[in-house]
Amino acid sequence: MNEMLEKLRHDWQQQEVAELFALPMNDLLFRAQTIHRQYFDPNQVQVSTLLSIKTGACPEDCAYCPQSARYDTKLEKEKLMEVEAVIEKAKAAKAAGSDRFCMGAAWRSPRAKDMPYVLAMVEGVKDLGMETCMTLGMLDQEKSEQLANAGLDYYNHNLDTSPEYYGEIITTRTYSDRLDTLQHVRDSGMKVCSGGIVGMGEKEKDRIGLLRQLANLPQHPDSVPINQLVKVEGTPLETEGDLDPFEFIRTIAVARIMMPQSHVRLSAGREEMSEEMQSMCFFAGANSIFYGECLLTTPNPAANKDQDLFRKLGINSDHKVTQPPQELDDLLIAGAAKTVESDMFYSAVT
Ligand code: SF4
Repeated sequence: MNEMLEKLRHDWQQQEVAELFALPMNDLLFRAQTIHRQYFDPNQVQVSTLLSIKTGACPEDCAYCPQSARYDTKLEKEKLMEVEAVIEKAKAAKAAGSDRFCMGAAWRSPRAKDMPYVLAMVEGVKDLGMETCMTLGMLDQEKSEQLANAGLDYYNHNLDTSPEYYGEIITTRTYSDRLDTLQHVRDSGMKVCSGGIVGMGEKEKDRIGLLRQLANLPQHPDSVPINQLVKVEGTPLETEGDLDPFEFIRTIAVARIMMPQSHVRLSAGREEMSEEMQSMCFFAGANSIFYGECLLTTPNPAANKDQDLFRKLGINSDHKVTQPPQELDDLLIAGAAKTVESDMFYSAVT
C-alpha cells in the first residue's frame, strides 16, 4: 500500500476530534478532501437504493422513527413484501444505475419464521448481479451466519448517537446490544454498515462521541451513513430545532478524516438539503448516497434529480443507466404496486 496513505487509527481521543471540529472550515475541508483523494476517486459516488420490505409496527421506541408502534405517525403499516415484488424493485433500481440494493424491515430482530423469506430475497437480488444490504434489527450469531451464507454483502445497524446521549433517544435496546450485533455481523464475514443521526438535540460532544465509537471499533465500518434527522409529525423529535448545515458538513468531513477507507454515506435528510449543500458534503468526503423515491418512509430526492446533480458536478460520468430518467420513478413505483397477497406473503407485524 502507498506509504502516503493515512494510517488507519482506532484510538481517537475526544479532545483531538474536538480540535478537528474546531478547525476553520476551509482547513477542515481541505484536509478531508486531501485524505479522500488518497483512497477514492473524488468524482465517484456509490449509489444504493433502499427499499422498505416491511414497514411500521416496530416494537422499539427510537424517538426519531415514524415506524415505531408507540407513536401516532399515521404511517400505514405493511406486511413483509412478497419476495418476487422485492426482486422487481431491485431490477428497477439496477436499471436506474444502483449497484447496491438495501432492504430494511421494521423489526426488533428477525424471527426464525421470517428468515426463509429474507434469505430468498438476498439470493434473488444477488442473482441480478447487485450487491445486497439488509437492515432487520438485532442479529444473533446464528442469523448473521444464515444471512452471510445466503450471500448478503452488507448489514446495516446504526449506533445512532453517542453512548452518553443514547438513553435520550432509545430505551428498548442498549448500546452494547448494538455493538454485539455489529460484532456478530463482522464475525460472520459480512461487511458492516453503521453510522448515526445528527440533529436530534445532541451536542457537538455527542457527534464526536458517535464518530469515536465508529472509528474506534476493531475495524472501521465499510459504510458510514450520516443521517440528518427528518422530523416526522407524531414522533417525540417532531419539534426538534434545526441543526446548522455547516455542523452537518463538519460531521461528514471529520468522519472522512477519521475513517479514510470507509464509504461515508449521505443518507436520510438529503431531501431537505440544497444542491449546493450536497455538493459541499461530497467535497467534505461523502461518497455514497441512496436514491429512489423513498428512503424507508421519508421522502428522498427522485433518482432523476440526483442524476441531474451528478451531471452538474461531473460525478459518475461513466455511470451506466439503462432507462431514461423520466421512466425511473415509474419503474420504482411499479415494483411496489406488484406487492400482492399470495402464499408467499405473510404478516411479519410483531
Ligand atoms: S428499530 Fe428501526 S424501525 Fe424500529 S423504531 Fe427503531 S429505527 Fe424504527
